Amino acid sequence: MNNEQWKRPKFLPDPLKGAGQKVKGLRVLFAIALAAAIIFVGIYWLRHRPQQIPTPFVTQGRLQIYALDVGQGDSALIITPEGKSVLIDAGPPQAADEVAAALRKRDVRSLDLAVATHPHADHIGGMRQVIENFGVKNFLDSGKDYPSMEYKRMQLAIEEKGIKFIPAKKGMKFDLDSGVGLEVLNPQGNDQWITEVRRGGSVENANSVVLRLGYGNFSMLFTGDAETETEDLMMKSGVPLRAQVLKVGHHGSRYATSVRFLEAVAPEAAVISCGADNRYGHPARQTLDRLLKAGVKVYRTDLNGDIAIVTDGNTFEIHPARQSIQVALAGFDRRFGHQRVFTMALAISRRPLLAR
Ligand SMILES: [Zn+2]
Repeated sequence: MNNEQWKRPKFLPDPLKGAGQKVKGLRVLFAIALAAAIIFVGIYWLRHRPQQIPTPFVTQGRLQIYALDVGQGDSALIITPEGKSVLIDAGPPQAADEVAAALRKRDVRSLDLAVATHPHADHIGGMRQVIENFGVKNFLDSGKDYPSMEYKRMQLAIEEKGIKFIPAKKGMKFDLDSGVGLEVLNPQGNDQWITEVRRGGSVENANSVVLRLGYGNFSMLFTGDAETETEDLMMKSGVPLRAQVLKVGHHGSRYATSVRFLEAVAPEAAVISCGADNRYGHPARQTLDRLLKAGVKVYRTDLNGDIAIVTDGNTFEIHPARQSIQVALAGFDRRFGHQRVFTMALAISRRPLLAR
């Protein structure tokens, strides 16, 4: 048959018509799928990336403070320039292994001082494991009894190991080394407890051991779960409150960190220890607003992971394990959920781009 003479019958469709549009549509679809894949892989990597990152800062000859990411709870490790160490709280029971690992990671084999700010489980949960696996020389707590099995077991472990038990009292000072000092600001001592708290408040929180760490011109305040009653009492009693860094009281609860207290402490930076999406809504919007208004830079263990503070006694640096770009991405991921982002991208790519 002669091809030149052959004519396409009307009922057969033209195979070339609309091909350009189809190719263009496929390209858009491919670009969207690729973008979705990159976002998906990026989020997956952020979640599952290796956690062993080399220490990005100099620790030699400096005072180091680590706010450990223990979920909903508190735990802070202090290491002095000469290697003395203090642990303030040990997180909830489920973080016991993490606290022990954090100590080992920093070559801490024994603690010069362990502190239980107050006997709630999110602060002493990992303490028994610490006592049993590390040498503890001195143990400090408020000295107020608490009827829980966990607290009893912790006391028993302290006794069994023959650890020196010290009930905290305002004005007590611990000289660590290289001029690093730790001063007790609360409780008042001599059985003078705060007994009246707000409705729904806690006497244990109110009688938290509050400590001020000092090294040269640097100071940091550790407030346990103290709320406004304790803050007011400390301001009235005239204890030194000024500090460059504030470990925010009660995981950022709205009943702690009042405007007055922030004025007295005048911190440059604040650390909030709380679990992601915790059921208490910590940290409270109001507290974050107060910190923001006071011009305080805020770090959070739920977003930043472990937070390291290093100082030579003059200047200090804060090194969060997760940086702001990762925090922003994680926030994006939390708000939308990576599966939802993926299905959203798929849904958009399935829209009838081919037909105009
Ligand atoms: Zn707590």
